Amino acid sequence: MIHIKTFVFSPIQENTYVLHSDNKDCIIIDPGCYFDEEKNSLAQYIDNNQLNPRFLLNTHCHLDHVFGNKFVAEKYQLTPFIHAEEKIVFDYAPTAGLMYNLPFDQYEGPLEFLEEGSEINLGNSVLKTLFTPGHSPGSVSFYNESQSFVISGDVLFKNSIGRTDLPGGNIDVLIESIKSKLLVLPKNTVVHSGHGDSTTIGEEEKNNPFLIN
Ligand SMILES: [Zn+2]
Repeated sequence: MIHIKTFVFSPIQENTYVLHSDNKDCIIIDPGCYFDEEKNSLAQYIDNNQLNPRFLLNTHCHLDHVFGNKFVAEKYQLTPFIHAEEKIVFDYAPTAGLMYNLPFDQYEGPLEFLEEGSEINLGNSVLKTLFTPGHSPGSVSFYNESQSFVISGDVLFKNSIGRTDLPGGNIDVLIESIKSKLLVLPKNTVVHSGHGDSTTIGEEEKNNPFLIN
């Protein structure tokens, strides 16, 4: 059984997810903690629940999703996993931080690369990597079939979709990713997005104004 904790971090109000299994292993997805108190609350949650961080995953590397990469990687001795197509966005993030007046210390160690179908194990559960570009060139989503949820990053939101006006964004590619990789999942699949409330595949198929033809 996977337990999901959501934090909302930074002035950009990004959703950071900590997933843990019954054996106390955990995965940190998109650590967006910016301020020290946010980093402390993430660490405190991990401490209080006696969790063992096993993986640091990034759905994509826009600044708000990687603010806390350096902190998490160093504190728990983890190597961030990203899609190779996202490396260019990762490298640009500190520059974006200066542009948005949100400077931050970039993680500068090695990276591991994910691709379509890459599986990440958490206890007895598996997260399957779905390549879902369009919001950014190397966006991925993480799907757990047994508990029917997907961590979608900024690809799909409740009643909305990711913006495509940032470098490497493409609206046609994004719509195709959503239709071919996410809308094909069972309708009861819960979608945990990079911002805002969770939703389901069925709800978005029915109500999302960007997806109704
Ligand atoms: Zn983004």
